[in-house]
Amino acid sequence: MGGPGLNGTDSIRNGKMKNKKLEICSVCETDFDLDAEGGTKGEFGIIPVAFCPTCLSSIFDMVDQLK
Ligand SMILES: [Zn+2]
Repeated sequence: MGGPGLNGTDSIRNGKMKNKKLEICSVCETDFDLDAEGGTKGEFGIIPVAFCPTCLSSIFDMVDQLK
C-alpha cells in the first residue's frame, strides 16, 4: 500500500521489468526517460505533450521572461 515493494511485485504485475517508458520531447523530438531523467508530460488543452529536462528548463526560462 504505497510502500516500497521489497519483492518487486509491482514490476511483475506490470509485465516487463525492463519496460523503459521513453517519452518523445514535443520540442526537440529527443527521447527521454521521464523517471530517470526528469522532464514532464501532460496536455496542452487536448494535445498531449512531453518536454525533456532541457526543454522544460528552457520553457521555465521563457515563462520567466514573459512575466
Ligand atoms: Zn526537448
